[in-house]
Amino acid sequence: MLAGKIALITGAGSGIGRAACQILSREGAQIIAADQNESNAAQTIELLSGSHHLSVSMDVSNSSTISQALSSIQSDVSAPPNVLVNCAGITRDEFFLKMSEKQFQEVFDVNLKGTFLVSQAVCRNLVEAKLSGSIINIASIVGRTGNMGQANYAATKAGVEAFTKSVAQELAGFSIRVNTIIPGFIDTPMTSTVPDKVKQKFQHLIPLKRFGKPEEIAEVISFLASDRSSYVTGTSILVTGGLAT
Ligand code: NAP
Repeated sequence: MLAGKIALITGAGSGIGRAACQILSREGAQIIAADQNESNAAQTIELLSGSHHLSVSMDVSNSSTISQALSSIQSDVSAPPNVLVNCAGITRDEFFLKMSEKQFQEVFDVNLKGTFLVSQAVCRNLVEAKLSGSIINIASIVGRTGNMGQANYAATKAGVEAFTKSVAQELAGFSIRVNTIIPGFIDTPMTSTVPDKVKQKFQHLIPLKRFGKPEEIAEVISFLASDRSSYVTGTSILVTGGLAT
């Protein structure tokens, strides 16, 4: 399904990003696994079959590390990445009245500014090379519903969805599709610190009565990366086990 695709995946050292590397490579894509922690990204690459996959160090909140990463892979790939999965994300949870400017800013820098910076760098290369592409951004159900202790995170994820819709309109003329996936609650290191009591409360509300697996998000990423979704752009796909917004 993804033969001939070169997929750059941020946050590839863990959770959904790692699962996306596994599923997209299974479908035939060449993978460039990017993470601020390169050894975690390298461990992801070790899980894949084939020797043409790469890992690269990239802090998505820092434009110079993004350009360094993209230049460093140039000699190893035949063309610019034509699939981008913006998976890097962080939480800095705190109740609103206690939240520091630092906690607010850090989450914005990674989740929203990071999505902007990496998308812009990748899309500029695609437009220059006159190539089509697919950008997949990862928001969250919390961006639709809000969540106590996550005013910063929820605002970034709502922002990712609005950003996606705007950029999709601008890039459609260049044959670059841009879509958002909205995961519900997924079992990854990001949610491993949620107390069991809180997890049980959420599970009770989810129609499928369980958290999702990272692979279940990655399968939808794979569809959006592929030409099977060739008429899908500027939209958001909920992958929430039935949890409605
Ligand atoms: P995860 O397991 O914590 O993975 C996130 C990855 O991003 C980690 O490898 C992390 O590295 C990396 N990262 C953090 N800051 C970075 C930066 N500045 N530059 C590059 N990489 C960076 O989390 P996940 O659950 O897979 O989350 C993936 C995405 O899905 C995130 O955008 C998250 O908001 C979203 N999401 C998750 C859920 C869920 O329930 N898990 C639900 C909705 C949306 P370190 O480990 O070094 O920090």
